[in-house]
Amino acid sequence: MKKFDLIVIGSGPAGEKGAAQAAYFKKSVAMVERGRSVGGIFVNTGTIPSKCLREAALYYSGLLQRGLYGIDYSLREGLTVRDFMHRKDAVVNLERDRVSHNLLAHHIELIRGTASFVDAHTVQVDRSEGGNEGDARGGTETLAADYILVATGSQPYRPPDIPFDGHLVFDSDTVLEMDRIPKSMVVVGGGVIGCEYASIFTALGVQVILVAGSDRLLPFLDAEISARLKDRLESLGMQLIFNDRPTKIETQSDRVRVAMRSGQVLEAETALMSTGRKALVAGLGLEKAGIALTERGPAIAVNEHYQTSVPHIYAAGDVIGFPALGSTSMEQGRVAVCHAFGFRYKQRVPETLPLGIYTIPEISAVGETEESCKTKGIAYEVGRAQYANNTRGQMIGETHGFLKLVFRRDDLRLLGVHVIGENATDLVHIGMMVIEREGGLDTLVDSVFNAPTLSEMYKAAAYDGLGNLAGFKLKEG
Ligand SMILES: Cc1cc2nc3c(=O)[nH]c(=O)nc-3n(C[C@H](O)[C@H](O)[C@H](O)COP(=O)(O)OP(=O)(O)OC[C@H]3O[C@@H](n4cnc5c(N)ncnc54)[C@H](O)[C@@H]3O)c2cc1C
Repeated sequence: MKKFDLIVIGSGPAGEKGAAQAAYFKKSVAMVERGRSVGGIFVNTGTIPSKCLREAALYYSGLLQRGLYGIDYSLREGLTVRDFMHRKDAVVNLERDRVSHNLLAHHIELIRGTASFVDAHTVQVDRSEGGNEGDARGGTETLAADYILVATGSQPYRPPDIPFDGHLVFDSDTVLEMDRIPKSMVVVGGGVIGCEYASIFTALGVQVILVAGSDRLLPFLDAEISARLKDRLESLGMQLIFNDRPTKIETQSDRVRVAMRSGQVLEAETALMSTGRKALVAGLGLEKAGIALTERGPAIAVNEHYQTSVPHIYAAGDVIGFPALGSTSMEQGRVAVCHAFGFRYKQRVPETLPLGIYTIPEISAVGETEESCKTKGIAYEVGRAQYANNTRGQMIGETHGFLKLVFRRDDLRLLGVHVIGENATDLVHIGMMVIEREGGLDTLVDSVFNAPTLSEMYKAAAYDGLGNLAGFKLKEG
């Protein structure tokens, strides 16, 4: 039996960063991965592929250039799925190499196979499953460690009555194996993944109907941002259906028929089901180690240090449930390992977490929304800046977006930032830092920003907020 300081199960962002953190401080680390490639869903089927496809859709549709030069630059007529997937495949391969090199550089022993607990300190690896070519040793291997980090991630939830066939009916994994660009698609699920893929396919000229069970898109967003997203998606050509859900999905030879609770019947060439994800806990033998699960999910229950009910076993990433993002998974993995080994370093994951949504247009948010301020009884004010009034916004042809600041009335402390438009997911970090450091509008007003930049919208929004507070409107800028 091989003995390590730490065993990590799963090579996604939570596992990779947790393992590297321990190895950096000279701990011996084994990582078990059952997939053919390292990197988890982040690299192979989730974050990176979907973001690459978004870039490809923007490029082939000429969407941004069209706004600039008033010409339809659309290249999509002759577009093949190969063209569309080409860049995605290249970036995914580079990312797999990056993860492999990171593991090698940190002397982390990568063991291919499926891990399950034998007891609270011992893990068995079934090498007959998983593994890449040339790694056909098979059999089982037993590992022991002082600490174990479970980072097994999640998988798409597949309702049992849906005829997933990877040809007409897809989920977010199988959509990457699509063999054609369809003419039409029903996307079921108004969550982040559903909205992102619905925008990508709409930009490619696919007739998309997006079905959301709620009365607005992404209800956790500031309502104004959600409303602007709806407008922009509709103007891209997407059809949106709210407050409805499918009761039956059937495939015919080359069509999908979706019967809705409202009685409406939708027909399209394909359907993409984006009906949530579930934590990957099955088959891990958690009961043999005494690890407790949450009631909802179920996911692995952890405390603020990412310790499970068995103190030397930690869990991080999608396997513990919300917020199930690559960005937070990495930090959870690092914090878990620092706590396990008592490194006086990353002690917590910040409470203020940014949210990046790669719809077209892009959205990002951090902190309080207007609605959450009302619920909490916080006396707040807002300030806005439009991309259309920003020089860089004009240069790049982004004229529909805006940046919105939510701040406390009495001391001007920044509470929330909401951005819809180009580079929103980068822009949000400026506001996030101000919120994290308990800064306010003065921090933004007193800073000098490069010009011309989109970041200047922060200053414009701060002035707008001060104007709103004073009861008169200052001219933006
Ligand atoms: C379509 C899509 C788009 C997304 N977009 C974004 C985004 O834009 N930004 C963002 O931050 N997040 C995004 N996410 C979420 C993000 O990908 C996940 O939150 C993140 O990958 C979770 O990391 P993880 O390490 O917990 O798990 P994973 O990345 O799922 O990795 C888990 C690994 O564990 C392995 N494993 C599982 N069970 C075992 C076992 N028993 N033995 C050995 N190995 C095992 C799996 O093979 C896998 O490689 C997206 C997700 C999807 C599906």
